[in-house]
Amino acid sequence: MLCDAYCAAAPGVYAAGDVARWDNPLFGTSMRIEHRTNAAEQGMAAARNLLAAPDARRPFAPVPYFWSDQYDMKIQAYGHLRGHDEVTVVEGDLAERRFVAAYRTGERLTGALAVGMPPKAVRSWRQAIAGGTAWSDAVPAAGTEAA
Ligand SMILES: Cc1cc2nc3c(=O)[nH]c(=O)nc-3n(C[C@H](O)[C@H](O)[C@H](O)COP(=O)(O)OP(=O)(O)OC[C@H]3O[C@@H](n4cnc5c(N)ncnc54)[C@H](O)[C@@H]3O)c2cc1C
Repeated sequence: MLCDAYCAAAPGVYAAGDVARWDNPLFGTSMRIEHRTNAAEQGMAAARNLLAAPDARRPFAPVPYFWSDQYDMKIQAYGHLRGHDEVTVVEGDLAERRFVAAYRTGERLTGALAVGMPPKAVRSWRQAIAGGTAWSDAVPAAGTEAA
């Protein structure tokens, strides 16, 4: 279901979760996210906007997030990990299967993928993505290119 930045598909019709493609103003693009955290956050945002006066509605502008435990390996992803121009390992080491990879789209940091890292090691990357941090500030000395 195609939605605007307020999760509205039509006047008085709102959508959330797997079914909703909406314009995320934080990234300046439309996206559809198939993860539980987004379904819960977007459901609350859509409900708030449905109940709000028209001029009190707020755009839904999250940093998308998911995590998955694959046996003993924790995978955490923040941001928009599609349509990027560069992926660079910024912490850890691919060979050790313990790293953070940063995603660049244009001149901006737009995503971070962490493998084998504790959650608190990734939070600062989430904040940097949420703040629209320039790539040159987030990754001043780029490391190994991963993809
Ligand atoms: C196998 C699998 C593994 C997953 N693992 C993860 C994971 O590890 N982490 C993660 O973040 N996400 C995971 N996901 C994705 C996650 O489950 C979804 O993103 C999330 O459930 C989406 O929530 P939702 O409310 O949008 O949709 P749903 O949870 O699909 O809920 C939609 C509901 O609408 C009902 N429905 C459908 N049609 C109608 C109708 N016509 N009338 C009335 N009711 C209807 C359905 O029965 C369903 O109960 C997984 C998904 C699958 C399939």
